[in-house]
Amino acid sequence: MAKAGSSGTGKSGKDKGITAKGITAKASKGKGTTAKASKDETNKAKAVKPNRAMVVVAHPSAQPFRSPPKVLIAGAGVGGLTLALMLHARGISCRIYEQASAIREVGAGINALPHAIKELALLGLLPALDAVAVRTSELYYMNRTGQVVWREPRGIAAGFDVPQFSIHRGRLQKVLHDAVIERMGPGAIVTGRKLTGFIQDDGGVTAWFTDSIDGSGSETVRGEVLVGADGIHSVIRSHYHPDQGLPRWNGVQMWRGCADFPAFMDGRSMIIAGGMSGKLVLYPIGEGETPETRLTNWVVNVRISDTPHPPGKESWSRRGRLDEVLPHAARFAIPGFDVLGLIRSTDSFFEYPMCDRDPLPRWTHGRVTLLGDAAHPMYPVGSNGAGQAILDARCFADCWVKAEHPWQALLAYEAERLPKTAEIVTLNRKGGPERVIDEVEKLAPAGFTDVDRVLGHDERKAIVRGYAGKAGFTVQQLTKV
Ligand SMILES: Cc1cc2nc3c(=O)[nH]c(=O)nc-3n(C[C@H](O)[C@H](O)[C@H](O)COP(=O)(O)OP(=O)(O)OC[C@H]3O[C@@H](n4cnc5c(N)ncnc54)[C@H](O)[C@@H]3O)c2cc1C
Repeated sequence: MAKAGSSGTGKSGKDKGITAKGITAKASKGKGTTAKASKDETNKAKAVKPNRAMVVVAHPSAQPFRSPPKVLIAGAGVGGLTLALMLHARGISCRIYEQASAIREVGAGINALPHAIKELALLGLLPALDAVAVRTSELYYMNRTGQVVWREPRGIAAGFDVPQFSIHRGRLQKVLHDAVIERMGPGAIVTGRKLTGFIQDDGGVTAWFTDSIDGSGSETVRGEVLVGADGIHSVIRSHYHPDQGLPRWNGVQMWRGCADFPAFMDGRSMIIAGGMSGKLVLYPIGEGETPETRLTNWVVNVRISDTPHPPGKESWSRRGRLDEVLPHAARFAIPGFDVLGLIRSTDSFFEYPMCDRDPLPRWTHGRVTLLGDAAHPMYPVGSNGAGQAILDARCFADCWVKAEHPWQALLAYEAERLPKTAEIVTLNRKGGPERVIDEVEKLAPAGFTDVDRVLGHDERKAIVRGYAGKAGFTVQQLTKV
């Protein structure tokens, strides 16, 4: 980026268009950027106690801190960490602030598709991923009783030049986290810091991060731009869209867990079974405790409500209960696979409501933008949540390099990514590629003897491959020069 190198390169005439209102920042505009603070970009600024009620105006007099990172990133999820690696690879300084006290391996399995893995491979992460993940070989879509509706090879077996990985979300996050620390140093990620306010002016953004462990003190940081990679409950998104309300729930509850279990099929296969009212997802995400077993991920999705309002936020990652999930799981019968046995052998598992949010008209407001789930939370069908966050990160970094001004970079990033991800949010609401089993169930609820007579091959292919095309992961899209 030609002119982004120094803070304050913004042409003030243009920058005056920014309506800079902090989420929670204090009205005494200069305090976050006093001379004292300028001595230390991460100065503990106890004087700047964020106050939610106050509105902040732009303060063009702000002076840059010494060597501020160009890009401030709120959130060390898959999106924020990948963005840091992408920026670092292009020589752009950045720093991540994460509210959690440490990066822990939480969650269950996710699938990272070739479009995302291609980006991670370019970052040199293929060996690290191979060490902790499973190269998915094939995907079976089945009805509730295990009859095959559609089957296709995945990853390398499907002709991609990179694999599809089935991986524990926490392990993916750890691979990214370790790479950030190794390449950028331990100061690249500041944990226990929650974004609570920000303001922007002609020369950059000043952000406040409070201590999220005991709430004591706050840290004032200056950067050229601020990226909200802070997930579905993003405070930056709420600031710019205060009327968005709660995430939208489709009434489906998801139970997800993983356990050491005998390998099934070729040991690298994935099954998605069921229909409109419930689905079962099974795939291995790592080596097992013995050569015959794998760390096996399971998901049971069942529609339990008609209300669009999700259960209380406190139950977003509540521990699941066997007596609640087993009756739902009992409706699935996959020949040769002991579904109930897998669930019973899981030490602890979690339940989540399946939520997304309506696509936004814009992500970028001057020097502030959104990325990953903060920008486009989507239903977890089609294995795209983490992948789209990775694609966002690549696009952001490329736009930054090409642009003359941070504004341009952020707007170009939004122009490229917002329409694509909005379409995926919409497609996922209709079931994504999994709609193929919904359609077959509608036509043959009691099963079939010949699936081609229920729904032709070309129609089934159109559903599954049509989604892949929209989400950007067909072989043709990924191998074009
Ligand atoms: C705990 C957890 C478990 C998950 N498990 C799965 C799973 O099993 N399967 C699956 O497909 N998807 C899962 N997801 C979602 C999936 O990881 C995302 O779709 C995808 O990775 C997008 O990542 P992201 O970086 O945009 O957001 P996230 O992964 O949500 O990361 C956002 C990060 O921002 C931090 N943050 C939030 N607010 C602030 C703030 N104010 N200041 C600083 N930091 C903040 C959060 O602590 C978090 O680390 C999970 C997400 C979380 C948070």
